[in-house]
Amino acid sequence: MSCEACDLKNEGQEGIAYYRWKNANIAVMGCDVHLREVFDALNGVQAERRKMQNFYITFGQIHTHSHNGKTLDKDCVGVIRATSEDEGRKLAFEWFGKKWSMFYTEAKVDEKFLSFFPRGLIKLN
Ligand SMILES: [Zn+2]
Repeated sequence: MSCEACDLKNEGQEGIAYYRWKNANIAVMGCDVHLREVFDALNGVQAERRKMQNFYITFGQIHTHSHNGKTLDKDCVGVIRATSEDEGRKLAFEWFGKKWSMFYTEAKVDEKFLSFFPRGLIKLN
């Protein structure tokens, strides 16, 4: 993602722009066209992240899984980060096949619900 104009600017340390990422400033060096390209890409990623929601799945009495080194069983709730309910379900099937029990949205998960799961919430992605 660089060109002659990028290289020329970088020699004199000109053409540095700062992009705000969470609480950090990222210095990006390049020509105007390529700076815009980088900023567009970063904006796209940030927009996707903002769309992310939490979804929750539970597991049956007899199924225990290991996912990314975490043990999942009937006593915990798995948290899936996804941009939509469809995507969340897709991930659940991808990771556990049909061996999980229920799928919930944020609205369902409160203190009372969680009191049935002594191991609490476990992040899956
Ligand atoms: Zn360039």
